[in-house]
Amino acid sequence: MNETQKISWTDLALSPEMMKLIEEVGYDYPSDVQAQTIPLALEGKDVLVSSQTGSGKTASFVIPTVEKFKNKNGTYILALAPTREIAQQTGDIFRKFGEPFGMQVAVCIGGADMNAEKAALAQSPHIIVATPGRLCDHLERGNLWLDFIECLIFDEADRMLEMGFSKQIDIITEQIPKARQTLMLSATFAPQVEKLARKAMNNPSQVIIAKTQSSTPKIDQMLFWLPEERKLSKLVDILKEEKGTVFIFVNSKEKTFQLTRLLNHRGIKDVTYIHSDLQQEHRELAVADFKSGKFRIIVATDVMGRGIDVDDVAHVVNYDVPKEAADYIHRIGRTGRRGLTGHASTFAIPGKDDKAIEAIAKLRGKAAPAKPVPGEKRVQERRPRSQAPRTYRPVAPKRSPEVVTPVVVAEVKKVGLIERIKNFFSKQK
Ligand code: AMP
Repeated sequence: MNETQKISWTDLALSPEMMKLIEEVGYDYPSDVQAQTIPLALEGKDVLVSSQTGSGKTASFVIPTVEKFKNKNGTYILALAPTREIAQQTGDIFRKFGEPFGMQVAVCIGGADMNAEKAALAQSPHIIVATPGRLCDHLERGNLWLDFIECLIFDEADRMLEMGFSKQIDIITEQIPKARQTLMLSATFAPQVEKLARKAMNNPSQVIIAKTQSSTPKIDQMLFWLPEERKLSKLVDILKEEKGTVFIFVNSKEKTFQLTRLLNHRGIKDVTYIHSDLQQEHRELAVADFKSGKFRIIVATDVMGRGIDVDDVAHVVNYDVPKEAADYIHRIGRTGRRGLTGHASTFAIPGKDDKAIEAIAKLRGKAAPAKPVPGEKRVQERRPRSQAPRTYRPVAPKRSPEVVTPVVVAEVKKVGLIERIKNFFSKQK
């Protein structure tokens, strides 16, 4: 996963059985986040980890927790995840590493069979992976107690809080003994993540991982200022030009299928969609069809998009500007992996999306892009220079795309928090 990584699995004080398993799974070297997090977690420390999806973060908490509890009977590990898909993927990784040691994993997610989950919980599985809402349903019904949990994991904590799970997280956390180990992973450290960390963790060590120079993704980022009614034609142009896989983000569930239908009408048939109201079965099928290449294009909301484990998307299109600036980073992180140059196109509506675009620029540590002046006629992208109103210009002209070049940040520090977090983002220029 990280060719320049100097640390090897033998440096991480894992048992020979675990080493053998890792070899069988085919992980040649620990990724940065694994190399940093596993030793701390094995020591029993609370660890606050900032790391992106795709960095190997799941195994960074699965391997040490399985290692610690593999010879015990009873429920000791609880992992909370924001979405059903992420919970399932995490459950799969726990199974991969836990089942060879006889550990059982129960995954509790909305939309699944409540009775089947209840029966699985009654077996005292070693590991429970759940979405917060669903776990609270089980707690209310008396289907489980959390008194025996010794390790609590918050995966994608920022996302869980953004999704409004704060209350459920408090209910769950309060029911787990304080003398536990807590591991918290988050792509970003928004103030509410910090607040939760202060509340739920005990003197945590901090691991901050950004992409290293060697694996720095190159993403050509384009910003198109255009009115809503021109977005579809622009998208069709992009889809005709782009031959690789495309991930399209929209801001509402309805828009996922509306846009899919509109694209179908425009003759683009290799497109599917996913949103959180779909039956679990349909969602899984959509993801499987996208991964297998049956559909080249997928339209998704942020919540759903985040849960799809695909790491080689050629082009990300932000059909709608994300409501949260941090989501922009998550979204475009789908492209530009594996050393390939990725492409990201963002459609912004002049007058409506100016603030959001400014917030994204700020988060990336870039100067705010030139933006339209309110009340004046808006420029159309690709308008010939001579016809363009003087006050505006397209922010990222097509022929000179911006390239993101994040710098190396890989450090382990005691929680000092806000400044470090600010630095983390400002360094990503
Ligand atoms: P994650 O960031 O946890 O979503 O992991 C992204 C992908 O990397 C998953 O498909 C993992 O199976 C894979 N992966 C995790 N750790 C390693 C490793 N050390 N070597 C190779 N692949 C890995």
